[in-house]
Amino acid sequence: MQTIDFFDPALLNKYNLNGPRYTSYPTALEFNESINDTNLINAAQTSPNGELSLYVHIPFCHSLCYYCGCNKIITRHTEKADRYLDYLAKEIVRRAPTFNHYRVQQLHLGGGSPSFLSTKQHTRLMAILRAAFQFTDNVQCSIEIDPRRVDPDYLSSLASIGYRRLSIGVQDIDYNVQQAINRIQSTQHIADLVEHARQVGFESVNLDLIYGLPHQTEDTFKTTLAAVKAMDPERVSLFSYAHLPDRFAAQRKIKDAWLPSPQTKLALMKQATQSLQEAGYQLIGIDHFAKANDELAIAQRHGALHRNFQGYTTRGDLDLLGLGVSSISAVHNIYGQNPKTLNEYYAAIDAQSSVICKGVLLSQDDMLRRDVIMQLMCNLNVAICDIESLWQINFNEYFAAAIDSLGPFIDDALVSVTTQHIKVVPRARLLLRTICMAFDAYLGKQLHRQRYSRVI
Ligand code: SF4
Repeated sequence: MQTIDFFDPALLNKYNLNGPRYTSYPTALEFNESINDTNLINAAQTSPNGELSLYVHIPFCHSLCYYCGCNKIITRHTEKADRYLDYLAKEIVRRAPTFNHYRVQQLHLGGGSPSFLSTKQHTRLMAILRAAFQFTDNVQCSIEIDPRRVDPDYLSSLASIGYRRLSIGVQDIDYNVQQAINRIQSTQHIADLVEHARQVGFESVNLDLIYGLPHQTEDTFKTTLAAVKAMDPERVSLFSYAHLPDRFAAQRKIKDAWLPSPQTKLALMKQATQSLQEAGYQLIGIDHFAKANDELAIAQRHGALHRNFQGYTTRGDLDLLGLGVSSISAVHNIYGQNPKTLNEYYAAIDAQSSVICKGVLLSQDDMLRRDVIMQLMCNLNVAICDIESLWQINFNEYFAAAIDSLGPFIDDALVSVTTQHIKVVPRARLLLRTICMAFDAYLGKQLHRQRYSRVI
């Protein structure tokens, strides 16, 4: 299989700026408190989409991983999940009439750890969702699990409830690394789970890896990569660890001195990218890998890849309804977010006030720029005529400043601009975030820029 060299150190250094990941545009930094449930209802009533993706956030975890920047609650009290499900049920019942003309194509459970729920609680949650929404026969149900708390029987139950896609947090298999991040887990156990998942009907397994963790070296990561490849997952996600101890208290347990240098971090990413490509995986977007026959890889080859809050997807024409604490909805022309703490979430439901507490109403300009940015992030190509006819603009006039700021990329032969297309060359894939920043109308505010992580 042909591998692409994405690593020209001079270019990566030149363009490794702080920038958004563009799972949305505008990004969450633009959310404000003027958005509420009424906006969500209006958006659902006027949306041209009749198909829905559901995201349910399960915030609980049994123990704290020190690298974690997710919205989670660490607890050993499993009964807390019963109370949470009571409130989720109330939220779902409230949302159902707004979305009764939609058909649910996708359901994703994320967290926290969705595997914090017992199988009985999962059965209850699925029954609540199915009673409230119209699921299609071939709805795609996916779930993230923490392998430390899951055994094969648990996976069998998830499969019988209807889950067909599984995402497992591996991160790194080296003991020293695991100790430093407070996440000790057995590689053999994960391999057994992957094998069992296939036997009981899971169609796709994704394994998460993180590079840039404490004590990682190219030698240790080589072992991790070999173990992951041996498990033969359909997909691998490769995330960069962003060390932001001022923002995430748990990260203060990770000493700066334990972290790989920026050069080593880059080498780890290069090693993973090459190793996975050699094993037949295709780099999807900026941080996912999929086997060549996986639907994401096929969509990317056909220029039909999309991106939303959960990352890359084959379905961009779905509205997204987020349920549960901190979850985000993206419906037609709004993004809306539920409260970030359980107390606020429960209080909003008890008071029957708006559950959505902030978000953003997209202007015509926002939606147009979102369209351009997502096409670049997903397919490395913008068809100028399509954008002009859809949005009734003269592209070159409208985006004169943006095209101007692509100058350095054009000079470095990373981007080409013709009357028909803007194209990013495949070897510039890792710089997509930086390239897309040219079309972002909000980045003028330097303060914002500093709140994003480095693109690599
Ligand atoms: S990494 Fe996952 S399991 Fe660990 S604390 Fe964060 S959300 Fe919980």
